[in-house]
Amino acid sequence: RAKADGNSALCFYARDFTRGSSRRLQLESALCQALEAGQLLLHYQPKFSLEDGALAGAEVLLRWQHPTLGAVSPAEFIPIAEETGLILPIGAWVLRQSCRQLAGWQRRGLRMVPLAVNLSARQFALPTLAGDIRAMLREAGVGPRWLQLELTESLLVRQPEAASRTLEQLRAAGIQLALDDFGTGYSSLNYLRRFPITQLKIDQSFVRELLHDKDSSTIAVAIINLAHGLGMQVVAEGVETMAQLEFLRRHDCDQVQGYLSGRPQPAAQFERLLAGPQLPLALPRAAGADC
Ligand code: C2E
Ligand code: MG
Ligand code: MG
Ligand code: MG
Repeated sequence: RAKADGNSALCFYARDFTRGSSRRLQLESALCQALEAGQLLLHYQPKFSLEDGALAGAEVLLRWQHPTLGAVSPAEFIPIAEETGLILPIGAWVLRQSCRQLAGWQRRGLRMVPLAVNLSARQFALPTLAGDIRAMLREAGVGPRWLQLELTESLLVRQPEAASRTLEQLRAAGIQLALDDFGTGYSSLNYLRRFPITQLKIDQSFVRELLHDKDSSTIAVAIINLAHGLGMQVVAEGVETMAQLEFLRRHDCDQVQGYLSGRPQPAAQFERLLAGPQLPLALPRAAGADC
């Protein structure tokens, strides 16, 4: 109840300032209704293992389809949702919806892979977060190993004490924790030792320059070695070319995610990867050398 009240109070506030004003305020006002109006939906972007080309999971990416504004990019509306606090009801919806989606696949006997959900700082600051997520998994009847959370470095830096407590609770519950956009934030390597992170995601800015810029490839390789040295998995984001994939495979990166192997897609399309025979990602020819 409290959540719904908070939400409508925000909407009221936003509407007051909206008449004939900027796109920003127009979006703010429209976003208040988006959840109830059913304009939000989830897309799934596959992640593949570089060891055998198998489907390894998916990242859940929020989409907003507005009747007159059209598709609004998360890069534009997530910051607004964060500033207004709307990210709390929206983020809770994404989590619950992801748990239900997993439950649906489980019930239908489809192949199960973990879903990775992005968390924002406002959500992460909730002391009830771990308990809320555990309750959602329980209600859906889904095991914690099917849920991963993607966090950014900035979120850990702000309140390291509270962050540490929340992360410990989530890990104790069996949920996986990934550091997103790794290498771009205000990071301290000490945090990797201090927090129970299970996966690093190499930011796409390094992947983009992998074959053109020596510094980027040096950093990418260092992240892979760092992750493995600390017993973590490593995923490269934004992989668009076979040459990038080849480089990452040669340097022992665990997984890839990007337009090359699959765009963010609606559930119905992603389900085709979960149904029927396992269709591995075609890896470069060197992959066949060991068989
Ligand atoms: P992110 O978590 O780093 O997600 C990866 C972004 O890279 C996604 O953008 C994805 O569509 C895009 N991408 C994937 N492969 C490629 C590629 O090969 N090339 C290029 N150029 N881009 C690629 P998207 O969907 O626009 O999301 C942007 C950001 O919005 C996300 O970055 C994440 O920070 C945030 N976001 C999305 N959904 C949610 C959500 O449910 N909750 C929260 N808090 N944030 C979200
Ligand atoms: Mg992410
Ligand atoms: Mg990312
Ligand atoms: Mg990003």
